[in-house]
Amino acid sequence: MSKFSDFNFSGHKALIRVDFNVPIDMDFNVTDNTRIIATIPTIKKILADGGSVILMTHLGRPKDGAVDKYSVKHLINSLYKLLHVGHPNSDNYNENTKVLFADDCIGTQAVLAASILKPGEVLLLENLRFYKEEEKGDEAFAEKLSKLGDVYVNDAFGTAHRAHASTAVIAKFFEANNKMFGLLMESEVLSAEKVLHQAKKPFTAIIGGAKVSDKILIIENLLDRATDIIIGGGMAYTFMKARGGKIGNSLCEDDRLETAKEILEKAKQKNVSIHLPEDSVIADKFASDATTKNCPSDAIPDGWMGLDIGGKAIDIFSAVINKSKTILWNGPMGVFEMEKFQNGTKAIALAVVESTKNGAFSLVGGGDSVAAINQFNLADKVSYVSTGGGAMLEYFEGKVLPGIAAVQG
Ligand code: AMP
Repeated sequence: MSKFSDFNFSGHKALIRVDFNVPIDMDFNVTDNTRIIATIPTIKKILADGGSVILMTHLGRPKDGAVDKYSVKHLINSLYKLLHVGHPNSDNYNENTKVLFADDCIGTQAVLAASILKPGEVLLLENLRFYKEEEKGDEAFAEKLSKLGDVYVNDAFGTAHRAHASTAVIAKFFEANNKMFGLLMESEVLSAEKVLHQAKKPFTAIIGGAKVSDKILIIENLLDRATDIIIGGGMAYTFMKARGGKIGNSLCEDDRLETAKEILEKAKQKNVSIHLPEDSVIADKFASDATTKNCPSDAIPDGWMGLDIGGKAIDIFSAVINKSKTILWNGPMGVFEMEKFQNGTKAIALAVVESTKNGAFSLVGGGDSVAAINQFNLADKVSYVSTGGGAMLEYFEGKVLPGIAAVQG
């Protein structure tokens, strides 16, 4: 594979797999353009070099062919605006950048639009998932896509865990020196590698969220890497119960109690400190107007449930975070969507920020911890916020991501 920043795109037609799977409201307005923003530097560098850009993405989960609701045409305005943000005097600003649209990702229209594309122009292709072949990883479909450009750039970390036609299979139709990661993918991989394989110790992983079952593999993998694992959120109560605690009506996966016990045992053998919340904010119902009180996490009365970590837990967790040199955070500490139960997640976010200020490398990834750090306006105060939820989780579970392997191989 080539290195993106060393490649001169002049005269090239770069076929970029992006992840523009953004939320859209009833009037087809993009309500969160984070994923589009994340790929703008990649697009701009290619255009500034004198190349042209062909963008491939999926949007939503269309079940059966083309539907207007999931048409990528709804993204044109957002993309156009974002490409024209920046200082007019900067190297890669061009107020004339054209954004064209092909209402099919393969076929005559796409082929024609790609063939007449000029340097400095952007062509957005219609939703890849209007073809079932995309998710099936169909070779013939991938080959058709590959013919639209002469260089393949994968900048879609969010779908790197999928072996789809445009994310993985397509790479085989390009010579090694004509395929590469885009800037976003490059920084995602670098940041993940920094944590997975080059972590400075102490290395603390903060794992939260609702379900133990979603996080078992990541915890297992981290037992070989981290020095400390902080477990918060709903999943902490399964561990509490596994240790013999009384958890009232808190979230619990009874079929995972054995797994939780095994994890606690393995951690002991491997000398990894697992930190569970000493106390919790408990509520008499799962609602924002619930009555709440503080309580030890292993003595929660029946009829009450733990919906956030308590003050003692915050102090203990913060102390662990503060002495860390590497921090990975995946999953909130409580039901942060409700104001009454966001204190723990916010305090942990602030501890991560503080530790980052003191020189730690901090990576926040996974849907809800990213939502939380954004909600608290702290995203720019940690080292890296990953754009890939499922992909990030699988990377940290130790799996090989097809989208990464295909470009590297
Ligand atoms: P996940 O997608 O597994 O990371 O879980 C995120 C969700 O877990 C968020 O919607 C939180 O509201 C929820 N959550 C966090 N802590 C708790 C808790 N103590 N009880 C119930 N749900 C929780």
